[in-house]
Parts: sequence; structure tokens; C-alpha cells
Amino acid sequence: MGTGARRTRRWVLRGGVTATAVGATALQVPAASAAGTNAREPAVYTTEHWKAREPAEPVTVHDHQPTYIVVHHTVEPNNSADTSRGSAFDVSRAIQNFHMDGRGWIDTGQQFTASKGGYLTEGRHRSLEVVRGGRRHVHGTNVAEHNHEVVGIECEGDYRDEDVPEPLWDALSDLVTYIADRYDIAPELIKGHRDFSSTQCPGDVLYARLDELRQEVGDRLGKPVGNRPEWPLLRQGDQGEDVRTAQHLLRARGARDVQPHGIFDSATRDAVADLAREHGTLDRSCCGSAHADEPGMLGADLWPRLVTGRRSTVEWKDHLTRLAPRSR
Ligand SMILES: [Zn+2]
Repeated sequence: MGTGARRTRRWVLRGGVTATAVGATALQVPAASAAGTNAREPAVYTTEHWKAREPAEPVTVHDHQPTYIVVHHTVEPNNSADTSRGSAFDVSRAIQNFHMDGRGWIDTGQQFTASKGGYLTEGRHRSLEVVRGGRRHVHGTNVAEHNHEVVGIECEGDYRDEDVPEPLWDALSDLVTYIADRYDIAPELIKGHRDFSSTQCPGDVLYARLDELRQEVGDRLGKPVGNRPEWPLLRQGDQGEDVRTAQHLLRARGARDVQPHGIFDSATRDAVADLAREHGTLDRSCCGSAHADEPGMLGADLWPRLVTGRRSTVEWKDHLTRLAPRSR
């Protein structure tokens, strides 16, 4: 109840601010939609608002809906404590420049960005218009091998240790709720980048809060939140039965230096890095960020290459989750 009341107040406030600002500078403030209740369209600044560069090629729009909504954190570039709208626009431009010039992509990788101050911006061109339509999907570049099926949202900041600022959280919740409603995406299909790749993105703190996000979105849309275990992300320093299981599996693949003692040590890290190299994913991590993960994390893209056919994928995920429940 408390959350509902807070949200209603915030929407009234935001509506008032928007109405005033539209009168003053019509082009500068996107109007939040008046339709609907809990899934109304939040104010999203389009590429035109923040003066994005034109994409190097026309963006691809698929004739199908996406399956997942994926949360990232930016880490770099241009991560600052500034919570102004101007800073949100600066961050959007810095990310686009980095993705186009640094990574060689046609445009910003993610479809949307949420700033620390709670400003939402469109990332890849046309993303807002296409989500609004609810039937098609703008192909982004933010989750390797899954870009045909994910809508990615970059959260400005580094959430490995720090908690998410409240304005960002609220904006993220508004946007995810809206996208989930437009595409009828079940709350349990709201994921973190690490649910697809061996990366720490979106950071342990934000990742641990995704259950809360799924619940919030489920409550707002009146939908139940299903349980969907994922592959654990294991890395140096971790301990537990899931680590021991990984070590047995690495040894079975020929990594005889790895001892099955349940501690993710440097020998385990090296064996995992070898596995990633073999599969061409060693340098992948979160390419949307200028920050590189340390290599040798065992995550969602590597587990399927390691496990045996003794169990199905779902059974393996359940098994590992039961061995060592990890909320990060
Ligand atoms: Zn990411």
C-alpha cells in the first residue's frame, strides 16, 4: 500500500512538472502518456531531445516482440555524481560516441538509459516509437547472441558496491513496467546482463535487487512473478558446492590442475578463462561499458559448455541453485 501511495503522488508531481515545462519549452520535455494506470508511458527523452548523432546505418527493426528486458550498469564512460538532465544527456552522448567510435557499432548499443537523476533517454534510434507500437523490436547491441530478443536498459553508475539512487530506481521501475506491459513480458523475464553472459554487469548490488524489481513490476501490472533460476556467476574467491561442481566438470574436460576443493582459486580461474577463449568469449564481458571485467568468471554463456547431458538445462540450474543459493 505504501508503495502505491508513494507512486501515485510521484506521478501527480511528475505530471504537474511536465505540464508546466511543456508550456515553457515544448520540444525539450517529452510528455508522459495520460492513458492507462500502472503501466503508463514514462517521460523518455528521445535521441532528438539529447541531440544524438545519426546512426551509421539504418537500425534494424524485427517483426516480432522481444522476450526479455535486460538491466545493465554503465560503469564508464562519463559516470558522474551529477543528477541533472543536462548530465543525463551528456551521458547519452558519451555512450553513443563510445559505442560508435570505440566499439564500431552503428549506434548506441542499448535501447534505453536511466540516469542517476531519474531521467530516461532513448539509446538506439527508434526504440521508443517501436516499444510504443508493442509489436516489433529494435535490434540493439547489448547482450551478445541475444540482441534479437532483448530490450536493454543501461543504468548510469557502477553498482558493484554502491546502491542504486532512488530516482534512478523509480525511473527504471516505470520504464520496465511500461515495456513489460507493451510486450506482455512476464516479470520473471526481467533479467540482468549476467543471466546471459559471464559478466558482473549490472553489478552485485543492482543484480541482487532484480527480484525486488520483478515483484514491483508484477504488483503494478497485477501479474504473478514466476520463479526462474539462472546459472550462477562464479568467480575468484567464491566458495561452495556449486564451485566444487564446476571444478569437477572442468577436470572432466581435462583441466587436471583444478582441484575440487570448492574454492574458486587461480587455477580454476585459468581453466575457466581457457574455456572462454576456446569459445571466443574471453573478451566479451559487457562490451557496452568501457570497463573490462576480470577474465575467468564462470557465467551463463559458459555453464552450458561445461555441464553434461546427465541433467537438462533447467535441472542443472535448479541443482546449482539448491547447492548454493546466491542472490548476487
Ligand atoms: Zn551489461
